[in-house]
Amino acid sequence: MAKKQKTGIMGGTFDPIHVGHLVTAEAVRIEYGLDKVLFIPAGNPPHKQDTGVTPAIHRYIMTVMATYSNPHFFVSPIEIDRAGPSYTIDTIRALNTQYGEQTDFYFITGADAVVDLPTWENIDEILNLCNFIAAARPGCDGDLDKVINYFGEKGRRRIFRLATPELEISATDIRERVKQGRSIKYIVPESVESYIHKEGLYL
Ligand code: ATP
Ligand code: MG
Repeated sequence: MAKKQKTGIMGGTFDPIHVGHLVTAEAVRIEYGLDKVLFIPAGNPPHKQDTGVTPAIHRYIMTVMATYSNPHFFVSPIEIDRAGPSYTIDTIRALNTQYGEQTDFYFITGADAVVDLPTWENIDEILNLCNFIAAARPGCDGDLDKVINYFGEKGRRRIFRLATPELEISATDIRERVKQGRSIKYIVPESVESYIHKEGLYL
């Protein structure tokens, strides 16, 4: 039998994608020997419905530009193409149907997102289908053990912590900086910075 592929999944709103996402994905890729990382911009995230997320096309283009120079990074429009809110379970099911036999999946999240896992739709089935790598993020490392224990044996088998470089960068802060006319240089790739200014995003 052919060797199993290891694929990382980096889901997010990516409004905009930033260096925190990229450094985290690359650190997990190297540490876990992943063959590739799929960046999946959310279509219409259920938990951010009323906060005015930037149109998906802009978020998708920025994600493509930010990742293109890494031969292991790819972008999937799977959630953007799907009508209605994106649920991770639908994405994982689709990927598993498409590649499941030959692929092990590693879902990459920041420690802040992993703390919410117990509230995710169909989390039990998600944990049957993929591993979770929780990357350290400033200010939110405390509760990971609680989450792992919450899921018991399955949690210990499926959820892992990785000490990645802790970068105090968030998309929320970047949007505020743009609004206030402050610099976002070096917190996002140059191409993303140019795109934000050219399209007048976050003003
Ligand atoms: P926002 O401020 O709008 O919530 P964000 O910076 O948290 O944006 P998201 O698109 O919400 O970015 O995050 C996608 C994924 O990337 C989540 O799992 C999140 O925890 C993770 N992530 C975001 N920023 C970092 C960072 N600086 N370090 C590690 N992980 C991060
Ligand atoms: Mg976030």
